[in-house]
Amino acid sequence: MDSTFKSDRFHDECGVFGIYGHTEAANLTYLGLYGLQHRGQESAGIASSDGTRIYSHKGMGLVADVFDNDSIKSLAGSSAIGHVRYSTAGESHIKNAQPFVVEYARGGIAVAHNGNIVNAFVIRAEFEAHGSIFQSGMDTETIVHLMSSCKERYLIDRITFALSKLKGAYSLVFLTDKGTMVAARDPLGFRPLCLGRLRDSFVVASETCALDLIEATYIRDIEPGEIIIMDKTGLHSYKPFAPVEPKQCIFEFIYFARPDSHIFGKSVYEVRKNFGRILAQENPVDADIVIPVPDSGVPAAIGYAEESGIPFEKGIVRSHYMGRTFIEPQDAIRHFGVKLKLNAVKDVIKGKRVVVVDDSIVRGTTSRKIVKMIRDARAKEVHMRISSPPSISPCYYGIDTPTTEELIASNHKVEEINNYITSDTLSYLSLEGLYKAVGQDTNFCDACFTGKYPVKVEDEVKAPQLVLFK
Ligand code: SF4
Repeated sequence: MDSTFKSDRFHDECGVFGIYGHTEAANLTYLGLYGLQHRGQESAGIASSDGTRIYSHKGMGLVADVFDNDSIKSLAGSSAIGHVRYSTAGESHIKNAQPFVVEYARGGIAVAHNGNIVNAFVIRAEFEAHGSIFQSGMDTETIVHLMSSCKERYLIDRITFALSKLKGAYSLVFLTDKGTMVAARDPLGFRPLCLGRLRDSFVVASETCALDLIEATYIRDIEPGEIIIMDKTGLHSYKPFAPVEPKQCIFEFIYFARPDSHIFGKSVYEVRKNFGRILAQENPVDADIVIPVPDSGVPAAIGYAEESGIPFEKGIVRSHYMGRTFIEPQDAIRHFGVKLKLNAVKDVIKGKRVVVVDDSIVRGTTSRKIVKMIRDARAKEVHMRISSPPSISPCYYGIDTPTTEELIASNHKVEEINNYITSDTLSYLSLEGLYKAVGQDTNFCDACFTGKYPVKVEDEVKAPQLVLFK
C-alpha cells in the first residue's frame, strides 16, 4: 500500500454490525460490513448463531478477500455480528481479528468492538496475576474475562458488571450461543452506534450507511451508556449507569464517518459542508478555483466554494483501485507514493490561484506532496484550507494516531507548517468554527485539538494503542 500516504492520516480502527432474527443473517452481515469497510481494512469477521452454538469465520484483508460463498454458508443461524478492523502494520495478526469468540462457564459468546479501553492493561494484569490466560492482544478480551468472573445469573447483569469496570471507548455488539444479541455504547458515547429495523429483524451498525445498504430503516442511535438486548421476547433497553455528559468523537464528522451516514443525530455531509462554509468566512482568500483533496475534503470544499462564490472544480483525481500488495519504494522513488492515489488535473489547475481544501494535517508530509503536485500542474498560487483545527494530541479512544511529537501542529506554528508544506497561505478552521458547524458546543470530545482528555489515560497505554499487549 502507499504507506507514505497512508501513515499521514488518522485511522478509524473498527466498524461493527449485527442483525437479529433474519434467515439471511450472515449474508446481510457480509453486506453490512461492505458498507463499513472504510472503518477498517486489515481484517474482517462474522460470527453467527442458530440458537445452539456459535459459528465464525474471519481473516486478514478486505471483506471481499475474507469471505466466499462457502464461508458465508457455513455461518448458520438467524443472528449474526460482524467486524472490520484497522490496525497498525506490526499488530496486523489473525489472532486479533474479531469477532472475538470464546466459551466460558455460561456458554459461548462472540464480541465485536469499536473503540479502545484505556484501563485494559490494568484489568488484564490483575487477571493474569490470578492465573488467567489471554488468547489475544486485544483490549476487547478483557470484557469476556470480566463477564466470566461475574457470578450473576442473567446476561444483562454480567454485561453490566463487565462494562462498569471499563474506562474508555466502546461501541460493542455481542452474540451468545443461544442466539441473543446485545449492543452497548459507553456512557460517554465516543463511537457511533445506531439501531435499525429490517422487517421483523433488528439491525445495529456503526453507521447508518450500512443500514442503507441492506435497506434497513434507521430507528435511532443507541444512546451513550445504553445496553440493548435482542432475544426471543423482543428488544429490551437498559441504562444501568449514572448519566454523564456525552463526549462523542468530533473527528467522526471531520474524517472517519462516511458522508452518506447520519451519526450523533446529524448528517455527516451537511456538517462537513458547514465546516467549509465557516472556513471560508474565517479564512477568505482571492482565488480562481476551490478544489478538494478527495474524498474526505469534498463536502467541505463545496461549502467553501458556495460561501466564497469561487467556482468548485475537481482538480485532483483519486484512484480507487489501489492494490494492497504495493512494496514500499526505496527513497529515490518514494515521492511517487502519493501519486498512486492522487493526481492533479493539469487542465483545471494551470495558471489558476487555487484554494485546496483538506480535512486535516497530521505529519504534514502528504500536504507537502499535494502542494508540490499542484505547483507541478502550474498553479499560480496554492492556498491550503483545513476544515478542522490543528491536530496537536494523539487519540486514545479507538483512533490510530501518531505520537504528539509526530503531529506537526503540536510543535510548529501555522506559519512554520505553511513554510514546510510550501503553500502560499495556510489556514485552519477554528475550534469555535468547528462547534458552530456541528451546531452545539457540548457533548463532544475534542482532545486531539485541545489535549483535554475526557477520560484519564493510564500511563501504560500512552503508546500506540494496538501494541498494548505485545
Ligand atoms: S481524541 Fe480526537 S479522534 Fe479521539 S475521540 Fe477525541 S475527538 Fe475523536
